[in-house]
Amino acid sequence: MIDDLRIHPGGEPGPRPAGELVLYWMQSTHRAHDNFALDFAIEQANALRLPVVVYHGLRVDYPWASDRLHTFILEAVVDLYADFEARGIQYGFYLDPGPGRRPARSPLVLLAERAALVVTDYFPTFIVPRQTRALRRKVEPPVVAVDSCTVVPLAFFDRAHLTAISFRSALNPAVPHYLRRPESPEPRIQRAIDLSFEPLVPTAATIPALVAGLSIDHAVPPAIRGGTRAGRERLAEFLATGLSSYAELRGDPTAEHATSRISPYLHFGNLSPHEVVLGAREAGAGQSSDKFQDEALVWRELSYNFVQHDPKHRTVDAIPGWAREELRKGEADARPVLYTDAELEYARTGNELWNASQRAFLVDGWMHNVMRMLWGKAVLQWTPNAAECLRILEHLNNKYSLDGRDPSTYAGIHWIFGKFDRPFYRRPVYGTVRYQSLKAAAGKFDTEAYLSRHARELPGIG
Ligand SMILES: Cc1cc2nc3c(=O)[nH]c(=O)nc-3n(C[C@H](O)[C@H](O)[C@H](O)COP(=O)(O)OP(=O)(O)OC[C@H]3O[C@@H](n4cnc5c(N)ncnc54)[C@H](O)[C@@H]3O)c2cc1C
Repeated sequence: MIDDLRIHPGGEPGPRPAGELVLYWMQSTHRAHDNFALDFAIEQANALRLPVVVYHGLRVDYPWASDRLHTFILEAVVDLYADFEARGIQYGFYLDPGPGRRPARSPLVLLAERAALVVTDYFPTFIVPRQTRALRRKVEPPVVAVDSCTVVPLAFFDRAHLTAISFRSALNPAVPHYLRRPESPEPRIQRAIDLSFEPLVPTAATIPALVAGLSIDHAVPPAIRGGTRAGRERLAEFLATGLSSYAELRGDPTAEHATSRISPYLHFGNLSPHEVVLGAREAGAGQSSDKFQDEALVWRELSYNFVQHDPKHRTVDAIPGWAREELRKGEADARPVLYTDAELEYARTGNELWNASQRAFLVDGWMHNVMRMLWGKAVLQWTPNAAECLRILEHLNNKYSLDGRDPSTYAGIHWIFGKFDRPFYRRPVYGTVRYQSLKAAAGKFDTEAYLSRHARELPGIG
């Protein structure tokens, strides 16, 4: 049975008796394992003696749609076909061809109208809440959103926690109960359903041409291979070679394998947070394993707690009052320089270390945590105010980073403005909000090595 705290119904009555299927509409949890929405759909389908069908669509018109994001998702779809087939579950993927080439009626709506019940992923930010509300308005069957985001369900916490210390003490007692691999039920009714659209079955060989034919941003090229298989390879490699020195080396952005680099796979749901944390526990005890679990559990789930409880997490209204006031006063202070959006985006500032970190986003689609902190703090003094800084940081993070558009995006960016932090000594522009210096970074790690690692420009942009 799925924990009630994971289930977010839309207020509609129960399943429609007339339905021919239970539909799982996959939005943000791109995996066939450890997936509570899928499990709930199977449970309901078994109880109603109906088949379960998985519909997964990819639009062209979501914000920041690009070759990079589309390719990552399509690579995950290759795995999803294999994984659902192995479980005997019908999965159909629909690639939106874009305006003017779409069928008269949306394949999702057509399928949902035939369902007794629609189950979808609960995700507290980006386009997911809006899409779920839109389907609820369009179709008669109930649309139930189920949370697979975190180890401890988001609804377990009835308030926003303002510090990691407070959140840790609320989360830790719940972990023993929730930290286990979910036992997924098997579907009892195996009956193929006519999907009313031709599902697309991509392969590694066909993905480049598929992506090239869509009207999305072709200037942001693929960067990291997507999917559960690639994610598990990455996780296994880290657990075998990086975890034991994580506590010691995670602060060094030049130590390439010191952190897991699994954030894109967690963002798209290719990996479950359960398998990541349990994997670290099984790989060994000690300071490094504890530190990694603290990041993957406490900091990651604190980010979800923030976004879940603050509908204004994309705005400066989510900055803590004391910090907002400090930054507002700092607007009167002289900036060393103000850069245009293009100078920031294409890594054309006067600071070479900052440019190298931005090139990590541009070229690799990922940036080390230490560099993200320096990167964000620097932009505060190169923009006129916090609102402008937030706008450009969100744009750069979400456009280029494969783990962007995530609760951790907004928690990370708001940390730049003082969220989860305390006041420090006052200085111009920042007031008492913590300052971090790009210049001082030279004494902390080998900045020359970082510069040469990120010397490559993204071809064709800027
Ligand atoms: C300005 C700024 C922007 C950020 N934007 C994002 C973003 O868009 N997406 C994103 O996933 N993270 C973001 N972070 C948090 C953090 O930088 C990344 O999660 C981390 O660098 C990912 O690398 P990793 O997978 O090697 O992490 P590891 O150190 O190996 O940690 C394992 C996992 O724990 C989680 N985690 C680690 N650190 C944090 C943290 N500080 N906050 C929340 N979760 C954490 C991530 O899911 C990560 O994959 C941002 C931080 C800052 C300061």
